[in-house]
Amino acid sequence: MGEPLVSSDAVRLPPWRRVVVKVGSNLIAPEGRRISTRHLLPIARFVAECADAGREVVIVSSGAVAAGRAELGTPVAAGASLGVRQALAALGQPRMFDTWAHLLDRPCAQVLLSRDDLQNRRRYVNAKNTLRALLELRAVPIVNENDSVAIDELRVGDNDNLAAHVAVLVEADLLVILSDVAGVFEADPRTHPSAQLIPRLERIDEAVLALAGGAGSAVGTGGMRTKLEAARKAAASGIPTVIASGRDGDTLGAIARGEWRGTLVERAATRLNAKAHWLKHALVPAGRIIVDDGASGALLARGASLLPAGVVDVEGEFRAGDLVEVVRRGADGERAIARGLAQYDAGELKRIRGRPSHAIESVLGYLGAETAIHRDDLVLL
Ligand code: GLU
Repeated sequence: MGEPLVSSDAVRLPPWRRVVVKVGSNLIAPEGRRISTRHLLPIARFVAECADAGREVVIVSSGAVAAGRAELGTPVAAGASLGVRQALAALGQPRMFDTWAHLLDRPCAQVLLSRDDLQNRRRYVNAKNTLRALLELRAVPIVNENDSVAIDELRVGDNDNLAAHVAVLVEADLLVILSDVAGVFEADPRTHPSAQLIPRLERIDEAVLALAGGAGSAVGTGGMRTKLEAARKAAASGIPTVIASGRDGDTLGAIARGEWRGTLVERAATRLNAKAHWLKHALVPAGRIIVDDGASGALLARGASLLPAGVVDVEGEFRAGDLVEVVRRGADGERAIARGLAQYDAGELKRIRGRPSHAIESVLGYLGAETAIHRDDLVLL
């Protein structure tokens, strides 16, 4: 492995508070048999420790299809048709979720996502709000792809990439991908037993992707390639990834201590401003929200969210999830002060402008977000 890809001087993870842990089928249903709690117990312990320390965990769990196979009690060929795989997922998903809910012994929420939920901005904002609310309620979201209904061309396809999307969605500080492999090796350890583990990757380029062969197991969909793709996605959004074994009991203990086992894929160098950069430069605003002095002061001085109460005018035909410009209107004229993603359509926002958040439900007839723009989706200009 060449110098530019690896260096081993960093010994600690960047500080983290919110983590997405992806758990592969191989840990949930070892050897493709029924669900086993053996490798899930250390994860449950980790979740409890995180909760005590004020940290948040989102679990992305595979295993629905594997559990469905076990539920039937009769073997189903690995290459079964899409319809059969979807039926297996529908059979197994409740088993898999029940296992987590039982083990974690705290409020757990089932969240099933499809690619559409991540691509369509309105649904993206919606999924994001749901996950955010669940974390605020101190529940543990257990996420999987909505396998039983997602049609092939509309699937994310593997839970490694799904976990990266979820990490971006919840603005996690860390993504952990647990499977039965100990990390990224210089060569496939199944065929090259002396291959060395790579402890740290500064970036994932084609040379690194070439290290990964095809799928790693018969039960899961992913292999090392999808893990590296996921880590690359996360890195581009400023999130480091640890790829490690979920069979080594101390993997998560190390992460809790700010260390790691396996391979750490670092976040991209531009990470700190990845989202701000996107908001600031990548999109053309679809409209303008005019705010009063009070709201402007709260945004500029306190890093607050923009509430409908501070909105005095709405211009343009934007939809929820669209980028809008926030403009302060004062005696001295107008000045653009921020950009952000609207939580409401322009028409809805016109109806609730100037109103306190508790009045939103009675005006619109349903309860949406409390904010017009959440501070996580806002960048000051
Ligand atoms: N979503 C699939 C399942 O729950 C697993 C996909 C994967 O392992 O990547 O069975």
